[in-house]
Amino acid sequence: MSVEVRDEEIVEKIVKGEIKLYEVEDYTGGDSFKATELRRRAIERITGVRLENIGNFSIDANRAMKANIENMIGVAQLPLGIAGPLQVKGEFADGSYFIPLATTEGALVASVNRGCTAINRSGGARSFVLRDGMARGPVLKAKSAEHAVRAARFIEENFEKLKKIAEDTDPFITLQRIEPYIVGRNLFLRFVYGTGDAMGMNMATFATDEILKFLEQELDLEHIALSGNLCVDKKPSAMNFLRGRGKTVVSEVVLKREVVKEVLKTTPEAMAEVCYRKCFVGSAQAAAYGFNAHFANIIAAIFIATGQDEAHVVEGSHGITTAEVTEDGDLYFAVTLPSLQVGTVGGGTALGTQKEALSIMGVYGPGNPPGSNAKKFAEIVAAAVLAGEVSLIGALGARHLAEAHMRLNR
Ligand code: NAP
Repeated sequence: MSVEVRDEEIVEKIVKGEIKLYEVEDYTGGDSFKATELRRRAIERITGVRLENIGNFSIDANRAMKANIENMIGVAQLPLGIAGPLQVKGEFADGSYFIPLATTEGALVASVNRGCTAINRSGGARSFVLRDGMARGPVLKAKSAEHAVRAARFIEENFEKLKKIAEDTDPFITLQRIEPYIVGRNLFLRFVYGTGDAMGMNMATFATDEILKFLEQELDLEHIALSGNLCVDKKPSAMNFLRGRGKTVVSEVVLKREVVKEVLKTTPEAMAEVCYRKCFVGSAQAAAYGFNAHFANIIAAIFIATGQDEAHVVEGSHGITTAEVTEDGDLYFAVTLPSLQVGTVGGGTALGTQKEALSIMGVYGPGNPPGSNAKKFAEIVAAAVLAGEVSLIGALGARHLAEAHMRLNR
């Protein structure tokens, strides 16, 4: 039978439901490129929609199907723009970096780019990683609150044993601490791990699962859910705002008065007032976790460009922007991101375009020592967020926001 006749038979069987979408690789000898094409042809036939663009891609379908996607039929493309270079001085990053941003929001790249200019002309951004730990928070059912209290004490006393169980699961994981929370007879344990250069969600999950097997046996607790929502994964929360998850990062700059005037067309006083009334009073009235102008815009565009877990934009939107006029009449400006979840290995980082985007910043792959590359990346991301905040708060201070969007035709 010719290849085309065989392919056509498979497509027909998918259309009729005789081959399920996830079974196609069984008929292509495990070739996910071919399976992707056949699934797409079947979907075209079922829906009557030509998927010419979805089917036009360069990423490695075999790699993607191993770890990143199921039932693949092609790609969703976004335009990728570049902002910068942006000068960043941190404990891991030290240089000028171009920032890749994947977005369909017109004016975003231009705005971040303008922020980069203002920061560079003021001597660059300084960034610091304040904390680094990925959390997984399972819920266990005890027989009573008393049982939960005794179990929490046992866990505290046996920390070294639990640490060994966790660290035997992966050479790059370290158990930093366990935070117990007791609610009635529910025992929540928030495990916090160092995960090297990986964002660490899989690593933390596997390690926690091994610890729970031990605790169930040893303490007669009932494992209810590996995630009991105290992690907190992909939900806005005071927990992550206060305790951090992933990396807690700060980035700052002192914007010179003439730079604010020439680049941002406003004054330090106007920007400080916008920041106070918008980011603090407005956010307090809204009971928001984002005391900022638009962290999520920059985080989303970098995350999509570089293969991060894009749902972590939720935590990335948390944080505070501060702006104060200095004694010299300049503008001290800073962003603090309590919960930035980034990695330079694992997840989607090794896919073709994502790997290239990380490489533009010199942060693809493992660091030496492990963890140093992800921290460097976090310092650059925080500086890019700083650039986005500087530009938007500057535009609001100059009352240029609507005009800029109109000019860029959106
Ligand atoms: P991962 O894709 O599981 O990769 C981490 C692995 O990379 C490590 O186990 C290690 O494996 C290897 N590695 C090589 N060099 C390393 C280095 N320098 N530092 C750290 N690891 C290194 O990555 P992950 O960050 O743990 O998980 C990310 C994925 O989790 C994303 O795709 C995300 O969408 C997903 N996710 C999962 C859950 C969940 O509940 N499981 C929840 C949310 C998101 P070796 O030791 O074998 O080399």
